[in-house]
Amino acid sequence: MERNGLVIKAQSGFFTVYCEDGSRFVCAAAGRLTKGKHEEDALAVGDRVTVEPVQSGGVVTGRIIAVAPRQRTLSRIDPVYHARGKPGQMVRQVLVANPDLAVFVFACAEPEFHPRMLDRYLVGAEAQKLPALIVASKTDLVGCEAARQMFAIYEQLGYEVIYTSVLPDHPAFAGVRALYDRLRGKLSVLTGKSGVGKSSLLNALKPGLDKEVGRISEACKKGKHTTVVPELIQLDAQSWIADTPGIRGYAVWDVQPEELDAYYREIAPLVSQCEFSDCTHTHEPGCAVIRALHEGRISPARYESYVRLREELSQQRRW
Ligand code: GDP
Ligand code: ZN
Repeated sequence: MERNGLVIKAQSGFFTVYCEDGSRFVCAAAGRLTKGKHEEDALAVGDRVTVEPVQSGGVVTGRIIAVAPRQRTLSRIDPVYHARGKPGQMVRQVLVANPDLAVFVFACAEPEFHPRMLDRYLVGAEAQKLPALIVASKTDLVGCEAARQMFAIYEQLGYEVIYTSVLPDHPAFAGVRALYDRLRGKLSVLTGKSGVGKSSLLNALKPGLDKEVGRISEACKKGKHTTVVPELIQLDAQSWIADTPGIRGYAVWDVQPEELDAYYREIAPLVSQCEFSDCTHTHEPGCAVIRALHEGRISPARYESYVRLREELSQQRRW
């Protein structure tokens, strides 16, 4: 009998599908689903699929016979395909299908907080129309007050920031519970660079998960371009987390320089007031963004971040 499920793992052409009754099947995909597509594009973790069980030698496996249309995807350019492709050619790899929420973890300290990196992630979320949540981890290292000040600008912009500490006696330990509540019923993508405390948070969210803490993968240390396929971690019956160790910096990959202004929340509403319709907001006369900057209505740090990222994106296009 056919059943519906969720792809929770994708590896070398095999997909682990979780069905509503809690059963898991390792499945292959029916040929017509992947025909003419990159496999990474055709099926990914987070896809809702229909599975037909297949009996082989007493073992029940399955075949994926249908994939539900995706609401959205979290994608990146596959470095492997990219290397093989023509310069500038964009080959999309779907990392997670149907994500509901992007959770960006940034430590208040150790490693040092770099707001510009957070801006890049936020741009990626805005570009992929993915709601974003910021986790300010290791609040205990700087104290609640200092942590609030570090992230104040993002709260003013309307981003939700949850302050956490995994030390049970610290007031910010309550943030772990608050985070849990925000993850309920969703497929969330957890991102943040190594050392910010993602594994520790996952362990605090789900006792018994036993994620290894403080481990930096060999591949990371050597700076290798390994494609780390995310696997979904089950928080409870309806809640899933995609742990994405390999997608650092994915965020801005398919953003064009001209569209960047749309992804800075405080800049976007000003663009229509600029004198030139193709204003880059860097030097043009009659620029509403520069005016707002001078009048103190937008933060110099965020403006600077916009200018730098725009420059970076323009250079990327010249590959
Ligand atoms: P990951 O690489 O993002 O998974 O980070 P880990 O969870 O492995 O944590 C990296 C280091 O930070 C470890 O030494 C943790 O013990 C430490 N750490 C994690 N969370 C906290 C926290 O809330 N407060 C403090 N003081 N240290 C933390
Ligand atoms: Zn302008």
